[in-house]
Amino acid sequence: MYQSTRSNYTVSDTEAVLMGIAPDGGLFADPALIPGKGGLSGFRAESCMGLPYTEMAERIMAALLPGFSGEMAEITAVYPKKFSSEKITPLTKVGSSYALELYHGPTSAFKDVALSVLPLFITKARAAAGISETISILTATSGDTGKAALEGFHDVEGTDITVFFPDGGVSAMQKAQMVTQEGANVRVCAVRGNFDDCQRGVKEAFAAAGRQTPGAQNDGKCTGIPGGKNEAGVSGKTKRLSSANSINIGRLVPQVVYYFSAYSQLIDCGEIRFGDPVDFAVPTGNFGDILAGYIALQLGLPVGRLICAANSNNVLADFISTGVYDRRRPFLKTVSPSMDILVSSNLERLLFYASEGDTQLVSQLMTELNTNGVYTLTGKSLENIQRLFSTGSCSEEETDETIRELWNRFGWLSDTHTAVAFNVLEKYKKSAEYTGNPCVVLSTASPFKFPAAVLSAITDAKDPSFGSMDDFSLAEKLSELSGIPVPANLAGLKSKPVLHTDVIDPDDIIGYSLKI
Ligand SMILES: *Cc1c(COP(=O)(O)O)cnc(C)c1O
Repeated sequence: MYQSTRSNYTVSDTEAVLMGIAPDGGLFADPALIPGKGGLSGFRAESCMGLPYTEMAERIMAALLPGFSGEMAEITAVYPKKFSSEKITPLTKVGSSYALELYHGPTSAFKDVALSVLPLFITKARAAAGISETISILTATSGDTGKAALEGFHDVEGTDITVFFPDGGVSAMQKAQMVTQEGANVRVCAVRGNFDDCQRGVKEAFAAAGRQTPGAQNDGKCTGIPGGKNEAGVSGKTKRLSSANSINIGRLVPQVVYYFSAYSQLIDCGEIRFGDPVDFAVPTGNFGDILAGYIALQLGLPVGRLICAANSNNVLADFISTGVYDRRRPFLKTVSPSMDILVSSNLERLLFYASEGDTQLVSQLMTELNTNGVYTLTGKSLENIQRLFSTGSCSEEETDETIRELWNRFGWLSDTHTAVAFNVLEKYKKSAEYTGNPCVVLSTASPFKFPAAVLSAITDAKDPSFGSMDDFSLAEKLSELSGIPVPANLAGLKSKPVLHTDVIDPDDIIGYSLKI
């Protein structure tokens, strides 16, 4: 059962995946995971250790999404086909810490782990519910979700997908990945605004779709077909909207698995025994990846501290240390664009859990955020968060220095986002909160997605010719210098034609989304 974070509106897990977001604007969360509520009966974290990735994923995802249990083996079988590493998410020792490499999938970012299976969840749930209409996936992207979602959903029967990305707010390589996307059921559109504008537009489109359907008021019950509250009708046809963003629980669940995989790999290499706490540092934007670590802990994985690493858009770092969430600050464009976010959606789920399921409080805080741009969390809920989460932020100069240092000292090539987490981890290790646990950094993207920033970090004399080179030439140069091949999916983009050129204003996202 999944419940809205803003009311007692409850649906089954398959319905939650199809709907993406609750009609009241809340996110779906499993109330059994509220601390002290008993957890998931019959699930033992230890029994997942030592299993191949696919079997581990099958067990964990079936526990969190029991409606798909019968099909989970078939669903997880896609991983070896789509990922180039036998371990799917291999762990590599880097200095005294470990990097969990999550970027060996089809689009070279960690989003592939979830978006390789989300289309299967959606099509299976659609078939089980006997829905005949198309499921339309709406996605706002800060750079990586867009391509991973397009890769997962293109030409999938019964679905279509629209991706909105901030114009000028993603790397050249990320943009090339999206605008060259083929497929009969895909739309890719640039928005004159930032990621927050894209995400707000998409959430408003969901709300507008709900309003267009007669009888779709928030009555707290879902008696109809799953997704029935999100129908949009134009010229007699209807659309059912769903989301490929981490607001969709089907995005989060697959991400829980690699925390278990990292832990199991640490046991395999003799670093720990089951029960020893391990800290995880996570480069954070929309708070999905790190929330998956929180769910892993709720499932009994011995997670020590979760270190929330922010870039200069440090709204989350401020929140965790003070309880004040204040988005009223300049939106900065950084070299880690996938973390350039000021309204971090999944934090809402943490608020739900940390307040022990106080939906009234969560709704009130979300209303304050919408209307005033700021809210304050206090008392036990804040303590529950601070007891577990550490935090810090990393400037542009520090990102550059960290990439250089990781390369020079350990011969490990880091992307800009991963470097933010390594930098914040080093600061954490010097703080009083650190108790000496082994530390894993979630490495979220291939360095070849951000070749300009990475190349300039690892070359001492900044070669002036780099300035006039495109991302493909820079990636080749980076490959020459590092001896690491450019991932085939990125190298191949150069010869592909641009197929998507739409650019719209944030206010037009609703109309664009609901157009058939
Ligand atoms: C999306 C993304 C992040 C942030 O992850 P969230 O789940 O949004 O917190 C970090 N790094 C990279 C490379 C990403 O694509």
